[in-house]
Amino acid sequence: MIVVMASGASKEQVEHVVQLIHDMGLVDHVIVGTDRTVIAAIGDKRQVDKTRLERAPMVEKIVPILSPYKMASREVHREPTEIPFGPSGATIGGGKVAVMAGPCGVESKEQLLATAHAIKKTGATAIRGGAFKPRTNPYSFQGLGEEGLAILAEAREQTGLAVVTEVLSEEEVLLVARYADVVQVGARNMHNFRLLSAVGRQDKPVLLKRGFSASLEEFLLAAEYVIAAGNPNVILCERGIRTFEDYCRNTLCLAIIPAIKRLSHLPVVIDPSHGTGHAYMVPDMAKAAVAAGADGLIIEVHMDPEHALTDGAQSITPAALDELMKQLSGIAKAVGREI
Ligand code: PEP
Ligand code: MN
Repeated sequence: MIVVMASGASKEQVEHVVQLIHDMGLVDHVIVGTDRTVIAAIGDKRQVDKTRLERAPMVEKIVPILSPYKMASREVHREPTEIPFGPSGATIGGGKVAVMAGPCGVESKEQLLATAHAIKKTGATAIRGGAFKPRTNPYSFQGLGEEGLAILAEAREQTGLAVVTEVLSEEEVLLVARYADVVQVGARNMHNFRLLSAVGRQDKPVLLKRGFSASLEEFLLAAEYVIAAGNPNVILCERGIRTFEDYCRNTLCLAIIPAIKRLSHLPVVIDPSHGTGHAYMVPDMAKAAVAAGADGLIIEVHMDPEHALTDGAQSITPAALDELMKQLSGIAKAVGREI
């Protein structure tokens, strides 16, 4: 439920309500708005003593949160959430569309640093690249591990780009978070509830990818796991779902952008690379995503896609990214945003 404080409620009056919420064995989530403060009380609703809360000074009303996800919901937080990330003061969820670009996997120092410098020139704000790769085949390239993370950190040092990289397991969360600016949870792990809670217990923003058979509600409930564990900075990433179609690797659901915007305050990023599987489709889908209101893009870029160790077929070159960025800037402007 949400406790809506009357406009002009003091800090002490808000704290009093928070204390009542704790006394009932519930967790509080305070949102200070421009006009009034609202406090979400999360937990077992059988423990709620509604009358006690209603009687507290300066409480205007108590409203139930109807959606199953609470803190990810627009009901609790009407304004969009803007999340700062990386060393250069970049944010996602505000007026600026964030572009995260880079190889599927970190393959070597030379490859990653060359890519980082090339994408920096295009105006991208973050370098992506997996040091731990979730591979279908156990004999395929699994990533460079911590060595890959150190290479990503060096790229940040040299370029000022933020680092987005995936964590595969609960035990590696703190290791990855030490090097990353944004911790990615991949599609295959969207239902790994222990991992979701573990990334919720560290404070780097989390890029949460939609599972390829997850409904929108399951996706938002996965985000709720992260927020409920203590980390409100969740970036939702649509990367396509599995359907009967085979002209593309996955079916990229761009309609999820307005759907998420209606239901949640969290920023949305589109991944047109995994979402299509084909480099030739990536620029068009990236443009469509920005036109439809995406807050960011995550795009696979490789210096030599033909020889990429992973996902070469869906990787574009830095030159193609540069061309795309120019077109995106016009589209962003047309929909009241900037790149
Ligand atoms: C990736 O971003 O490299 C990746 C493995 O993506 P997904 O989890 O969406 O398949
Ligand atoms: Mn990939």
